[in-house]
Amino acid sequence: PCTDYDMAYFHSYAHLGIHQEMIKDHVRTETYREAIMRHQSFIAGKVVVDVGCGTGILSIFCAQAGAKRVYAVDASDIALQANEVVKANNLSDVVIVLHGRVEDVEIEEEVDVIISEWMGYMLLYESMLGSVITARDRWLKPGGLILPSSANLYMAPVTHTDRYNDSVDFWRNVYGIDMSAMLSLAKQCAFEEPSVEMITGENILSWPHLVKHIDSYSVTINELETVTTKFKLKSMMRAPLHGFAFWFDVEFNGPTIEPTNYHSSTSFTENHQGNGSLSKKRPNPNEALVLSTAPEEPPTHWQQTLIYFYDPIELEQDQLIEGLVTLTQSKENARFMNIHLEYTSGNRSYVKESVMR
Ligand code: SAH
Repeated sequence: PCTDYDMAYFHSYAHLGIHQEMIKDHVRTETYREAIMRHQSFIAGKVVVDVGCGTGILSIFCAQAGAKRVYAVDASDIALQANEVVKANNLSDVVIVLHGRVEDVEIEEEVDVIISEWMGYMLLYESMLGSVITARDRWLKPGGLILPSSANLYMAPVTHTDRYNDSVDFWRNVYGIDMSAMLSLAKQCAFEEPSVEMITGENILSWPHLVKHIDSYSVTINELETVTTKFKLKSMMRAPLHGFAFWFDVEFNGPTIEPTNYHSSTSFTENHQGNGSLSKKRPNPNEALVLSTAPEEPPTHWQQTLIYFYDPIELEQDQLIEGLVTLTQSKENARFMNIHLEYTSGNRSYVKESVMR
């Protein structure tokens, strides 16, 4: 059923600003275009569904790649504009814009390809992947192609003294006035909720931990209701631990490209090349095409998602941080996400609950 929360969600996508932000994110948009062009031999002459077409940009890329027909589906009123864009580009006989939810619209044929840009902050925020799964189970032919083909969510401990001081220690001396009375409120206001912001590789204290791997072909809606993982990380240096960062990548493999063992997390580990080239075009078409939002990669509009603690924890070099993280779709609003973090360092244990809304 389409809830009031869904209505509000689709309404937010009727504003052009959000689409402009996504389209201007060149890392995002160019990687999608590259993915479509790499699979051109599979897409040409075939039927495509674009789950959440927005302005229609990915549908038009697919039409340019020679698709026979593209169903461009969006429940937001932006679909009306997408339809005008399609007409103005003389693509009306290829791209069919359907204004409705993928859960509700009817498509009278099976499709060869599903394309979607469904990723939210921290990958799973917005829970749009469920709609891609619905589209897959309703229409995709056996042996069909899904772009992106897989996704990975990572986490790592973070040190960020500047950010902490900026929000907290600031209150110790305000124009010579001691406003330390604000400290606990300042911590709460700054760090209660997850924060979407940009950090760099220098803020990261350990190799990342893979929170969740998602295979677009086999993932189920059930599996996404609760994602939980234990982690055990070792600090590379002596530093104050201020919280954890989350980021993700998606891969564009498919029937025409042999899957490789390449994972972007390796850019942080064994294979670190230091060239930051993961999300750029790769000359070798057999190598995986990856859209990465990692801190050491070119920035995207997703940035990284930070969960800060109210107080830093002093870490020694090689100190272990162990714990558990659970991401749950909120009961209050399925588009929201509850984040439960438990961690132990030294002999102390901590718990942090937050809601991404
Ligand atoms: N494909 C576009 C827009 C991506 S944003 C681009 O790459 O620029 C995601 C879009 O998906 C939004 O416009 C939103 O309204 C739409 N959307 C999300 N869930 C949907 C659903 N269940 N049915 C139809 N559209 C959906």
